[in-house]
Amino acid sequence: MKEPSVGKGIRINGIVQGVGFRPFVYQTARKHHITGTVANTSSGVLIHAEGTPENIRAFEQNLTETPPPLAHITDVRSHSEPVRGDDIFAIIGSSGGETAATLISPDVSVCADCLREMFDPGDRRYGYPFINCTNCGPRYTIINDIPYDRPKTSMEVFRMCPACQAEYDSPEDRRFHAQPNACPVCGPSVTLCDRSGRPLETGDPVRETARLLKAGHVVAVKGLGGFHLAANAENADTVRRLRERKRREEKPFALMSPDLAHIRRYAEVTDEEAELLNTFQRPIVLLKKREPSAIAGPVAPGNRYFGVMLPCTPLHYLLLQSEEGPFTALVMTSANLSEEPIVIDNAEAFRRLGDIADYFLIHNREIYLRSDDSIVRRVSGAVRSIRRSRGYAPMPVFLRSEMPPVLGCGAELKSTICLTKGRNAFLSQHIGDLENLDTYNFFRMTVEHLKRILAITPEIIAHDLHPDYLSTRYALEQEGVQKVPVQHHHAHIASVVAENGLHGPVIGLAFDGTGYGSDGAIWGGEVLTVEGKTCHRAAHLQYMPMPGGAAAIKEPWRMAAAYLEEAFDDPPDDMDLPFLRTVEPEKLRIIRSMIRKRLNAPMTSSLGRLFDGVAALLDIRQRVTFEGQAAMELEMMADLDAEGLYPYEWRTIGENGREILLRPVLTGILSDLRNGVSTPVISGRFHRTLIHLFTDLCGTLKQETGLNRVALSGGVFQNAILLEGMIRSLTGNGFEVFTHTQVPANDGGIALGQVVIAGCH
Ligand code: ZN
Ligand code: ZN
Ligand code: FE
Repeated sequence: MKEPSVGKGIRINGIVQGVGFRPFVYQTARKHHITGTVANTSSGVLIHAEGTPENIRAFEQNLTETPPPLAHITDVRSHSEPVRGDDIFAIIGSSGGETAATLISPDVSVCADCLREMFDPGDRRYGYPFINCTNCGPRYTIINDIPYDRPKTSMEVFRMCPACQAEYDSPEDRRFHAQPNACPVCGPSVTLCDRSGRPLETGDPVRETARLLKAGHVVAVKGLGGFHLAANAENADTVRRLRERKRREEKPFALMSPDLAHIRRYAEVTDEEAELLNTFQRPIVLLKKREPSAIAGPVAPGNRYFGVMLPCTPLHYLLLQSEEGPFTALVMTSANLSEEPIVIDNAEAFRRLGDIADYFLIHNREIYLRSDDSIVRRVSGAVRSIRRSRGYAPMPVFLRSEMPPVLGCGAELKSTICLTKGRNAFLSQHIGDLENLDTYNFFRMTVEHLKRILAITPEIIAHDLHPDYLSTRYALEQEGVQKVPVQHHHAHIASVVAENGLHGPVIGLAFDGTGYGSDGAIWGGEVLTVEGKTCHRAAHLQYMPMPGGAAAIKEPWRMAAAYLEEAFDDPPDDMDLPFLRTVEPEKLRIIRSMIRKRLNAPMTSSLGRLFDGVAALLDIRQRVTFEGQAAMELEMMADLDAEGLYPYEWRTIGENGREILLRPVLTGILSDLRNGVSTPVISGRFHRTLIHLFTDLCGTLKQETGLNRVALSGGVFQNAILLEGMIRSLTGNGFEVFTHTQVPANDGGIALGQVVIAGCH
């Protein structure tokens, strides 16, 4: 006898839209003889299922256990519903309304199936640079509103041809409801233009672009989240010319290669790194250079690593693998003039990049939201994010408890924003350094865009303590919401606590360059104890003057002068240090008097500045052309086998506070310098001293407080030697250590820390 049918309503939340979820539900329903419907709603995927109790159970289990590769289910709720007597299973139209809890998929690199078709001469999409399917293609960057459907994307202007429409309508097809579905007949197309915007006569714009690149030209190429400036990485003249035009002196350029085999010609790739290169996010991965190689020197001067990515879109594959190439690697750097947001619009590209690029490979699929390339590396057995952007945003960080709707405005450099809803913290893509109007406009646009597509109206706005940050000013201008100021380093530690789902107090090591302290000084070498919204400053580096304020960041020799002046009672004027010889005597005299008189010399406890200052003392670098350059070069130089340790010391100050004295360490370094010890050895000892010092300090705190968990955050932890060393040393001393793996340790993670702290208020 046939079992009677029962009815069930199932609501699934998570990343379930734009990832082939409905066809998956459809096929799963057919497999288990289920009738009913499935629909996208703005509050998730809604299923009505009818069938025998046994089949329904199997159906539900199948749904949650083997979802499509890009889906991420966060929540499934089901309840009984009356049987309607449906005789088939059908996919029905999307509906808006309600509050959305559905997550928007990030952009996904072209999948293997689509690549196969694109390189198949018999396929109707042979050589088509916009091929995509339900498992791949643009998402976040082309969405303007929810629910995620074609009319809400920049594909709305392209009307599907009958062949594409048939695929789109067929639940059996792998392009069923693939919103950006397109072909050469009906979809977007590429055009190659000269710098004045005039199209070039060519039958194959991509192949012609490859030819121009081979010939040494710089070409602006419109990608997924914005334009890149492309150049042949083997051609030193071209790379140098690109640097001059872009006004980017030494900051490393990213590379793109057609496949792993080409990457292995110039970089070491471990199995884990190969996997990372191949993930659908297609991030830039930092890989150890092989030397010598065919890659031109000016690509990444003074660095042991290259930033490398595999192609992320069909267009990039066509370009890199063109018969005119193939290229070992192309420089693929964000198309902007230093520090401005990446260019996304065609007209804007000609206007702003006309003096940088010789040619432009543009297309007519609009980018609604810019998104830079993400940057990651592997350190200490885990993935470390340096810039979390394309492919990752707007994937949320899942929190351990429910949050009110909060907006975190971030800090200033490497700015991101964060919005919360339920247990999700949506960290935006990388916005940039909030130091100019263009970036600030992008910041405001990102806030509005994310509020719309995530349907979040913040009740609380969290911001940095620094009164002059544009992000702070933005927060203070907003009306009708509660505002919560959050100290910078407290936010750093809260961000690593949040992404590790921790509860209760931790010791936090917050090491970075600049963060406004609650006493008005510039902090950055901080040992904190943190629990939720409370934060105690247990220790910090001795305050030192920064002669000229921000100028001391650009010119590390100023910090070196300050350390010499401050760390010694009677700084020998005639100190014969190599770096002093490179500074004009008159300038040095002025700086010294600024230091003594505390004139235009804010006080700082920054560890970032100490790295800079030591790099200058060792005459590694006196002036930087990008943030963190001197510190990075000091790290790159370190001899990891160097034995020996500098003395260190701290003293108690105020109530429960400690000051880490710099004199013992500096004395050690100077005496090594005088004795002719090599800079790699001094750098190695310096790193090792810090590791010992902070491990000891944590030990002291543990005795006092019983705390056994240490959380590490702040931009200085981009230093792999320090990160690896601290993890090893603390773990070896019985501590539980928590580090960042999803969110950057640098200020790109600040907004996350801000929202979780403000959420406690
Ligand atoms: Zn695909
Ligand atoms: Zn078509
Ligand atoms: Fe910071």
